[in-house]
Amino acid sequence: MNTSPRAIHHLSCGTMCPRGARLVTGKGGLLGEARFVCHCMLIEGAEGLVLVDTGFGLDDARRPRQLGVVFNALLRPRPSVAETAVSQVRERGFEPGDVRHIITTHLDLDHAGGLPDFPDAEVHLLGRELSAAMKPSWHDRPRYVAAHWAHGPRWIEHEAGGDEWFGFQGVRILPGSDAEILLIPLAGHTHGHTGVAVRRSDGWLLHCGDAFFHHGEVATPPHAPRGITAFAAFDEVDGAARRENVERLRELAARHGEEVELICSHDPLYLDAAQGEEQAAAFGVR
Ligand SMILES: [Zn+2]
Repeated sequence: MNTSPRAIHHLSCGTMCPRGARLVTGKGGLLGEARFVCHCMLIEGAEGLVLVDTGFGLDDARRPRQLGVVFNALLRPRPSVAETAVSQVRERGFEPGDVRHIITTHLDLDHAGGLPDFPDAEVHLLGRELSAAMKPSWHDRPRYVAAHWAHGPRWIEHEAGGDEWFGFQGVRILPGSDAEILLIPLAGHTHGHTGVAVRRSDGWLLHCGDAFFHHGEVATPPHAPRGITAFAAFDEVDGAARRENVERLRELAARHGEEVELICSHDPLYLDAAQGEEQAAAFGVR
């Protein structure tokens, strides 16, 4: 039977501090440090925990060099043990083995770093993303870190298709779970990039991963800092598909904003708001 999950925790499992705050956030100095988060979700279901994306993992914190020279120089990540998903799972009183399922929006190094910390979890993703990461093209090589899956994850591949969901395709996963969770394919940033929709008691939450980077991209009228537009284009594998999906998400937000809340991986605005709400609820303020 489908109900809404007992709780959804919003975690940042990584921080990146690229230079050029004004260019990428529209605020601060030209050489100032921006703050990007790695927004992951820990969903408490009746049958265990579901983790959506994993940010950086313990190995990344111990050996940040494995993230690569270019990524370290441009994005200036600050992987730390305290911010890993596995540390935050323990902090909330759970064991890593309680995480039965991981859903990855895609396998970029800032989303898949925590996979080795949950070796027993089933890892759900679109088959197209797995193929792209296992045999990366020259262009894609820096974005995927083979050490993140050297332990041999229990991959569960899903295919695009599925049912209609607000004009998108919605691929139902975890049918035995009490949480209703759909993959919403959003290709462009990577070949098999997907959003993840979770039904809550008051509507849907759609984690859009890296389909967009800044809340202004899905506002009406859309607006985004110039550095974000340039970075999104630099980091895409299919520009036309990516831009089309951003436009579809903007329309979704404009038409169904009451029923569907959008968030993305790296904009701290969403994370700060979600964590603020979580704290308020915990203290009974809401
Ligand atoms: Zn990312």
